[in-house]
Amino acid sequence: MKHPQTEMSKNVSGLWRLWHATPLYLRIIVAVGLGLVFGVAIGDRAAALAIPSKLVLRLLGALAPPLILLAIVQALMRAQIQGRQTARLISLLLINTVVAIVIGLLVANIVRPGAWAGDAHPPAATAKMSAPAVDPLSQFLDNVPKSIAGPFSDDGKVMGVIFLAVALGVAMRRVRHHEIRTVDDLVHVGLSTLIVILYWVIDVVPFAVFGSVASIVGVKGFSAFLALGGFVLAVVVALLAQTVYYLLRIRFGSWVSPIAVLSGVRDALVMAFSTGSSTATMPLTYACLRENVGLREQSASLGALVGSNFNNDGTALYEAMSALFVSQLIGGNLTIEQQLMIVLTSIAASVGAAGIPEAGLVTMTMVFNAVGLPTDYIALLLTVDWLLDRCRTAINVMGDVTVSCLLDGAEPETAAHDDLIIE
Ligand code: ASP
Repeated sequence: MKHPQTEMSKNVSGLWRLWHATPLYLRIIVAVGLGLVFGVAIGDRAAALAIPSKLVLRLLGALAPPLILLAIVQALMRAQIQGRQTARLISLLLINTVVAIVIGLLVANIVRPGAWAGDAHPPAATAKMSAPAVDPLSQFLDNVPKSIAGPFSDDGKVMGVIFLAVALGVAMRRVRHHEIRTVDDLVHVGLSTLIVILYWVIDVVPFAVFGSVASIVGVKGFSAFLALGGFVLAVVVALLAQTVYYLLRIRFGSWVSPIAVLSGVRDALVMAFSTGSSTATMPLTYACLRENVGLREQSASLGALVGSNFNNDGTALYEAMSALFVSQLIGGNLTIEQQLMIVLTSIAASVGAAGIPEAGLVTMTMVFNAVGLPTDYIALLLTVDWLLDRCRTAINVMGDVTVSCLLDGAEPETAAHDDLIIE
């Protein structure tokens, strides 16, 4: 006779495998669909379903500061560039990122997708949800640390420390045999551990999406989704405008023709879109630049390998537009000073965003906090992030490609010019 418990654990592990075998974007699409159905079916009562999204956002927010810190430390520590090249690289990266953010803010100011929802301020549903939740669930939520350092502060909770210890302990099992001989090793282990935890959180994002869609639709109806459609459209338009800017820069700032670049790096762009990770795409970007476009070794490696760690124009543009979108959605208008603040924090957040899927969503909490926007509203963006993440990743890679071409200068490589690399 079959043991019922063994049967059950088999079913559970089967379901677990199915969950993992299904691509994240499919899980999110299903979650959006179920969320819509539940929201319509149970109406106001769906408000409480926003709890998982609050939980996921809190976890993402807790991971943001150390991730940013270690990512920047690691990138700086590993970069092998000096003097004039460094200055040129930094100025190119900065100019491109500022242009990306300005394009994003311009499009968001013109299209005003946040206002498409009319008078309804849908994510208020998310805010409302804390009211009915004076129960064990909300107590549990209170014990999930808001930041990694939180549990160690004066009013830190012991439960929070245990939470953190379990997460770190389990995540570090994978790297426990890693030898630590240099500081580089130490930072690498720290960053890999945080990335393991980040992927766990991302794994449960579909539950958050389900809960937030259901609670928004249930409480406020569909107007938020109209606005969200406008937002997706506005982001895509802005990313396309950024691409045009890149192609013009390449046309007038390097020897390569924009068409040749696009066709030479298309594999890297497709890979970026399909993986949502500019870091995973990095080796391919480099190979395309060397073999298909014919850039010099040094320009390709500076732009695509070194610069790539700091250069996330697509992410910067997206974070700035998201902040503006949410402020429009809640009926507020950001002042010029606040928009300037968005520019500055988006630059920092995009530099700190690791080149992995959804990393921009994690660092976005920084931008929202800087201008006092409620981070609850990021839950709404979760529903479309699976698509927009892919688009901005492709632009991140296109940014690296552009910097490499510009570094390569006005003359193609010839034997005589081999060592005359940066103009
Ligand atoms: N997925 C992006 C990348 O790998 C980062 C982001 O989430 O914006 O470049």
